[in-house]
Amino acid sequence: MRAYAHDRFLFPLPAHHRFPITKYALTRHAVEELPDVTVLEAPPVTWDQVRAVHHPEWVRRMRYGLLDRRETAGLGLPWSPALVTRALHAVGSTLAAARAALEDGAGAALGGGTHHARHRTGRGYCTFNDVAVTVAALRREGFGGRVLVLDLDVHQGDGNAELFAADPTVFVASLHGARNYPFQRVPSDLDVDLPDGTDDGAYLEALAATLEQTARAGPYALAFLLAGADPWSADALGRLALTPEGLAERDRVAIGALRGAGVPVCVTLAGGYGVPIAGTAAIHARTIALAATSS
Ligand SMILES: [Zn+2]
Repeated sequence: MRAYAHDRFLFPLPAHHRFPITKYALTRHAVEELPDVTVLEAPPVTWDQVRAVHHPEWVRRMRYGLLDRRETAGLGLPWSPALVTRALHAVGSTLAAARAALEDGAGAALGGGTHHARHRTGRGYCTFNDVAVTVAALRREGFGGRVLVLDLDVHQGDGNAELFAADPTVFVASLHGARNYPFQRVPSDLDVDLPDGTDDGAYLEALAATLEQTARAGPYALAFLLAGADPWSADALGRLALTPEGLAERDRVAIGALRGAGVPVCVTLAGGYGVPIAGTAAIHARTIALAATSS
């Protein structure tokens, strides 16, 4: 399986910032040890590809560093030219991984899952929406199949919900903590709210029901899996109580159901803010290993 990395595009952050910039290189190092995975450098997307999804004014403000204080606070990251470069490669990792999935059955982005980025603004560490930009780029190239966005990050995917709201060819399902960010939501096609402290058993039950419901809205020609590591009990932002073994079972069940139905799967990492962050990287690497054995 091909996996696309963008971790060498670093950007400046203040000390003790919550964005887990180190997890991407840690994850890549672990993934490079996997026998069935080839790690490749993620190519950047073009500004045209970004503008196909985002409002031109948001694109311009990001590109040239024109964000006001409210926008910077909403994004949660300090603007820099390096942040912009990284964002283009991060989105590019998902586009390349989706192409790999369509060719090989599975592909992975060692990043991506920027599901809070909306049409007119970035939010919650998400500058541009990788899945929406990817779907738009594939559509332009003639890909016409039905798409599933299976969002298992612990935070609700408000950006995906907004950007695909008017698109009946894309089904967006989000399984997340009920009391977690974002606090002003945009409804997905299917939203599943989980109470604080949800454990492996309750989570896997909810996942099985979610997979049944999403299957009824198929069949799909491509699925995006947002395999956030932040439902982990040791996550600083998660509020749920899954174990690493529970998360591995989550991925086995989700990837198994999709691949079993013949659906190509593009895996993205999405969030993960564990203490220690090496634990998060290990969860991400196991997701990639499971996807690789399914391709
Ligand atoms: Zn998250």
